[in-house]
Amino acid sequence: MKIIADTGKCVGAGQCVLTEPALFDQSEDDGTVIVLNDTPDGELIEKAREAVNICPSQALSLEE
Ligand code: SF4
Repeated sequence: MKIIADTGKCVGAGQCVLTEPALFDQSEDDGTVIVLNDTPDGELIEKAREAVNICPSQALSLEE
């Protein structure tokens, strides 16, 4: 599984970071998402799915 982030769609809402700070951070310049670990394993897989589901701009997706 791989996390794909489309920073063009990201509105910097930060929900992904709140969901799992081990996987996501935000750019200090414009608040857009930075993926810290795009190939999560273990319990982080579920957190990645959660982050994809709650992102308000559908900027995150998963390549299974
Ligand atoms: S939740 Fe979505 S819109 Fe918000 S920072 Fe993360 S990727 Fe960007």
